[in-house]
Amino acid sequence: MTSWNEAIIPINPFSRPGTKRQLTRNIVWHYTGNPGATARGHFGYFGDTLVRQDPYDDKVDTYASAHLFIDPSESLLIIPLDEVAYHASQANPFSVGVELCIEPDLSFHPATYERAVQIGVELCQLYGLTTADFMRHYDVTRKVCPKRWVEHPEEWEAFKAEVDRRLQNGGNDMQLPTEEWGALGNRLDALYRSGTFTDYTYAVKAFGGELTASELVTLFDQIGAAIEAPAIPLSAEDANKVISFLSAAHGATADPEAKEEFHRLANELRKVSGQL
Ligand SMILES: [Zn+2]
Repeated sequence: MTSWNEAIIPINPFSRPGTKRQLTRNIVWHYTGNPGATARGHFGYFGDTLVRQDPYDDKVDTYASAHLFIDPSESLLIIPLDEVAYHASQANPFSVGVELCIEPDLSFHPATYERAVQIGVELCQLYGLTTADFMRHYDVTRKVCPKRWVEHPEEWEAFKAEVDRRLQNGGNDMQLPTEEWGALGNRLDALYRSGTFTDYTYAVKAFGGELTASELVTLFDQIGAAIEAPAIPLSAEDANKVISFLSAAHGATADPEAKEEFHRLANELRKVSGQL
């Protein structure tokens, strides 16, 4: 499972030449330079706006793209990773280009940053790279990109350090003491046994210290859905005690309407106690 969604743009001369890359030696990091613009917005720009350019009119054409775009709510792969994107000049044939969207105040949203860390980890694992292979666009061409990380190199170093930390931890973003992993495993085991979720793998991963934050989010979605489902307000045991009185009354009367009503009430009790 990857941490990004795919929305691949069509092959075209301006943003996706369709050329296969034989080598991935670097990950080049960019910022979009468009305050408030989203990953989807850039998918539209590179996959449609640029594609509509006319190479034969007298306007200057734009040739540009990158593989991945990250905003606070999603990460989009718009060009297959094994193809060339137009993001870092001479580094294009041997690099993957990743763009971070920026907020209206030009900052990286914490969720965008978190996604970028995850993608950094995943790309390192995919290509056998380390953060020593990460470059800012600035490091390739001296373009001031990503602006924030050019002006604050200590934040660029901190980003790489966070990716390193997760890589050393097998990509896991959750670091817990062994006993807390055990406690989490026990809680998940109990929730699984009570039927709150159905995939025991989550408990196994917790016991092994391998559960990731994004898996925990998925799990909480399932647990939340189970909790919001209609609760059973009456235990089967209590319901059956009342039902035994009703069946006695059912046997004691000869009135067909009363019999029918006792029968109906017994079934209602079976329903609310989860027996029907
Ligand atoms: Zn750039």
